[in-house]
Amino acid sequence: MKNALALPKIAGISVYIHWTFAILIGWIVLTNLWRGLDWLHVSWMVLFVLGLFVCVTLHELGHALAARRYGIRTQDITLYPIGGVARLERMPSKPTHELVVALAGPAVNIVIMLILWPLIADFEMPKEDGAEVFVIDQHNFLPMLGIVNVWLAIFNLIPAFPMDGGRVLRALLSMRMDRVRATEIAAFVGQAIAVLFVFAGFYGNPFLIFIGLFVILGARAEAEAVRSQSFLEGFTAGDALMTNFQTLDKHHTIRDAVTLLLDGQARTFLVVDGDLPYGVLTRDHIIRGIQSEGEGAPVHSVADTRLHYFDMRTPLEEVLEHFQQRPGSIVLVRDGHRLAGIIDSENISELIMVNAARLRMA
Ligand SMILES: [Zn+2]
Repeated sequence: MKNALALPKIAGISVYIHWTFAILIGWIVLTNLWRGLDWLHVSWMVLFVLGLFVCVTLHELGHALAARRYGIRTQDITLYPIGGVARLERMPSKPTHELVVALAGPAVNIVIMLILWPLIADFEMPKEDGAEVFVIDQHNFLPMLGIVNVWLAIFNLIPAFPMDGGRVLRALLSMRMDRVRATEIAAFVGQAIAVLFVFAGFYGNPFLIFIGLFVILGARAEAEAVRSQSFLEGFTAGDALMTNFQTLDKHHTIRDAVTLLLDGQARTFLVVDGDLPYGVLTRDHIIRGIQSEGEGAPVHSVADTRLHYFDMRTPLEEVLEHFQQRPGSIVLVRDGHRLAGIIDSENISELIMVNAARLRMA
C-alpha cells in the first residue's frame, strides 16, 4: 500500500499507519509546546495518543476477527488520524452477522475499560478550575486511557452509518425490511448526524469535520453499492460473460500491447502462457510498463498474475463485490474446467444500468 507504513501483521492481518498520522503527532507536539508544556510532558502526550491508537487497532481487530468467524477475510487495517479502518472483503449480508461484526469493535473498548477499571476507580479526575493545564503523566496515563476507551465505544455507537452504530441500525432495520431500504434509511440518518458533526467541528474539535465528511461520503457510496447489488439479484456470472476478448502471449512486448490498445475497443487483456491463463494486463499496467520497463519488455514483466476465478453459477453480486474492492480488473469465469470467458467491471456496470432501466419501465 502506498503512503503508509507497514507494521507487523497481527493475527495474519496487515496493519498500516497512514502518512498523515505524522501530521497528528506534529500537531500534538506543537500545540502542547505552545501551551507551555515541557518536553517530558509533551512526550507523555504523544505516548498517550500512541496508546489510544493501540486501542483503536484492537477495536478494528475486533471487527476483523468477528468477520473471520463468518468466513469473511480482512484485507488490511489502516490507521488514520481520525481513526482506524478495517477493510473487510465484504460486509456480512445476514443482519445478525452484521450486528455481531459491528458490535465487536466497541466491545473490545469496553473490555479494555473493564481491565483498567481498578485503576479508574481509584483515580480522581482533576478539577477544572482553569488555574492549571491538564497534563498526562505516569500517574494518570492508564486511568485516562481506560476512560478514553469508554468514549471510543460511545462515539463509535452513534448511529452515523457507516460508523459502527449506523451498521447496528442497518442490521436492526434489515430484520424488518429489505436491505436496500434499510441501507437508505441508515444512510439518511447517518448523513444528517454527519452534518451536525461538521457544524460541531467548526466550533470545537476540528477532527469532527473530517469524520463528518468521511461519514457523508461513506454513507452515499455504500447506499449506492447496495442499490447496485440489488439490480443484480438473480443473475449469475454466466449472464455477464464476455466470450469475445483479446489475449496476448506472455512473451509479447509492451509495444504489441500498445498497438492492440490503440487499435481496438479492449482496455484489458488476458495474458496467456500457451493455452493457459497467465495474468491480466490493464491499460494502467501498459502505461506504467512503458515508463518503468520500456516498450521492448515482455508483457509478463508488468502483468498482474493474481488471477481470480468464478464459476458460471456464482451470483453476480459476489462478482460486483470483487470489483468494488479491485476496480479496473477482470475476472475469469469457468464452466467446469473450461475457461468460458471473462467479466470486467464495465460489463457489470452496463448490466446494472440495463436492469435499472428495465425496473423503471415496469
Ligand atoms: Zn468500529
